Formats: sequence, C-alpha cells, structure tokens
Amino acid sequence: MLPSPSARVARVEPAATLMITVKTRALVQQGFDVINLGGGETDFGATPPHIGDATKKAIEEGQTRYTESRGLSKLREAIASKLMEENELDFDPETEIIVTPGVKMAVFAAIASTIDLGDEALILDPSWVSYEPSVRLAGGVPVRVSLSKDEYFRVNGAKLREKLTPNSRLLIVNSPNNPTGRVYRREELEAIADVASENNLFILSDEVYEAFLYDAHRHVSVGSLPDMAARTITVNGFSKVYAMTGFRLGYLGAKESLTSEILKVQQHIANCATSFSQYGGIGALAGPQGFVRQMVEAFHERRDILTDGLNSLAGVSCHRPEGTYYCFPDISKTNMSSMEFADMLLDRARVAVVPGIAFGDSGEGHVRMAFDNSAPRIQEALERMSDVL
Ligand code: PLP
Repeated sequence: MLPSPSARVARVEPAATLMITVKTRALVQQGFDVINLGGGETDFGATPPHIGDATKKAIEEGQTRYTESRGLSKLREAIASKLMEENELDFDPETEIIVTPGVKMAVFAAIASTIDLGDEALILDPSWVSYEPSVRLAGGVPVRVSLSKDEYFRVNGAKLREKLTPNSRLLIVNSPNNPTGRVYRREELEAIADVASENNLFILSDEVYEAFLYDAHRHVSVGSLPDMAARTITVNGFSKVYAMTGFRLGYLGAKESLTSEILKVQQHIANCATSFSQYGGIGALAGPQGFVRQMVEAFHERRDILTDGLNSLAGVSCHRPEGTYYCFPDISKTNMSSMEFADMLLDRARVAVVPGIAFGDSGEGHVRMAFDNSAPRIQEALERMSDVL
C-alpha cells in the first residue's frame, strides 16, 4: 500500500473555475467562437518591444545564470525608486526588496514567513483565488471575512474585529480588488491599519492592479500609513501592468526583519527570478510608460461599454469598477447560481465568465467578467448575452 499524499495539500481545493475552463477549451477545440471574458491577463497587444529587446540582449550577452537570490541590484534599485515615488514606501534596495518569480511566489513566501502552524490569516471575501490555498499550504488557517454586496464590498473594522481570535496573525489586503473592481478608500485602509496595530497583525498588501484606476480613484499603499511600515509586506509585479505574465516577475518590499525570513523561503524553492526576465524588468521600469497610459485609457472605454451593457440586461446589475479590469455584476435576480449562470452563458451564448463562487461565498450571485477584450468583442458578447437572457 502506498502512503497517502499530504493531508495539507489534499485540503487545497482545485480551482472552482476548472469546469468552465475545461469546457471553454473543449468548445474552442471543436471550432466554436467563444468570447472569453474569464481571463486574468490583458490581451492588450504584446509585451512592449523595448522590454523584449532588453530581455533578448541579456540572453545574447550570456546573462543566463543564477542571479543573487534577492534579484539584480539594478532592478532592486529601480523598484525601490518606484515604490518611493509612487507609493510613499521607503525601502533600502540592498536589504528590503526581493525580486520574485511572479507575484504568486511573493504572496506565498510572505505568507509562509509570517504564519506558524495553526495561525489564522484573515481574507476579505470575495477574494483572489490563490490566497486561501497559499495559507493552507503554509499550514495556516484561512479565516474569511464576508463583505457585503449591499455596500459594494466596503471593508469595515467591525467586520474584521468579529473574526479575530488569539491565533490571528496576518491580514491580506488587495486593492484595487480582484474580483470586485473596488479601490479601497483611505478610511478603509486606516480601519485595516487600526485593527492590525491593535491586534499585532502582519499585513500582506497585494497591489498588482494599482495602475488600473478609473475616474478620480487613487491608490493608497497601506504600508505608507503611519506605523504600518514595519508590519506590512507590499507585493507587486510586472505581469499585469507591462503585459509580462509569461516573464514570471514580481517583487516585494518589507522591513529587513521580514525580508531576511522571506528570502530563505525563496532561496530554497526557486533561488531567484529568471535572470533575463529581470533584465526585461529593468527595461520596463526605465523605459517609456506611455504603453501603460494607453492601455488604461483603452480599458476605461471598455469598462464603460461592458458596465452600461450589463446594466441593460434583464436580471443583471453592475457597479462601475473603480480599478482593475474586472466587472463583477450581480446576477442573483436571474435565480441561477453563479455556476449555473456561467455554464448557461457558455452553452448558449458562447461567452466564458468566472462564477463568483470561485472567489468565496460572498461572491455567490455574481460573475466576474474581464474587459481586456477588444471593444467590438465586448459589444458582441453583450449582444449574445442579451439574446439568451
Ligand atoms: N495577485 C492578484 C490579485 C492577481 O489577480 C494575480 C493574477 O491573476 C496575481 C497576484 C499573480 O500575479 P503573477 O502572475 O505575477 O504571479
């Protein structure tokens, strides 16, 4: 008889989106024209050419060996300047920045370095799909804090306090938020900061969508609030903002007492981010930023087309997202579960979306739709949805 695989890993659920992903792939293979609004990566053209050029040059020059585990010093310096100028976060590039293979690695290493077996991590629900599995893999206990759709998923201190126990250790914040499209106001972040200081919690702040802001919304890094620097790990990366998902390049900033621990996790799992991707990252931060502006402007227009279109559909209502590239419409009036709704759209309209339940119980009654498709494709998806609803 074989030994059982790890019970800790067995407790990690496969993504609730799997069924839709598998079915979408099968339909596409059979030649059906599926409009995929399920995606988590922009299809806004390719990675800007100057980033590819910097990467190719690095390969040609033989930069294909391990780098320092914490990343190339030139890249860490560029990241520290960016964090200082744009986020009011002050990190020493020598000791307080770690370049990681993707933001996912930064998230996992941060969680694994802050919680011990049985410690609790507070996750605002609905939330991005990988926080809970990362907490479980690290031996921790995910504690979900339900946010209410009636308040457009606002965070409030009272809800957080209800879930605190003597084992609470970490609070995970993601603004701009995937899947809701919310951008947390300074007051919400201050409430989070108060709970963290009163109860001596670490904060993990995932800011990967910070460039995707609309209207007058502004991004505030929770680590820049008074007294938060020492307890906050800020993670961010290149995947979304520079269309570099395949480069697998992210980073984190935290005080040295934490980075010294986080670095050990990275050293033993991955050692370092890919050397030539890091040169691409230097090219991205040093190069022209016009690409980002153009992308966000285009997404702004697509956001309006999708939100207005959704609000004209029977049984569907949608807040105008404040950031990210996701709409999170409420479909509860259709009397279908989010899984049934997503399945029905795929079968009958050939439109792929992510059921809200994938993001936690508070996501039920919603679906997530990415507006990273072209405006005509979004328009067509709306027409197809209108026909079946
Ligand atoms: N954090 C959030 C909130 C995300 O939505 C994603 C990707 O979808 C990531 C982190 C992962 O980023 P990366 O591709 O750099 O690992």
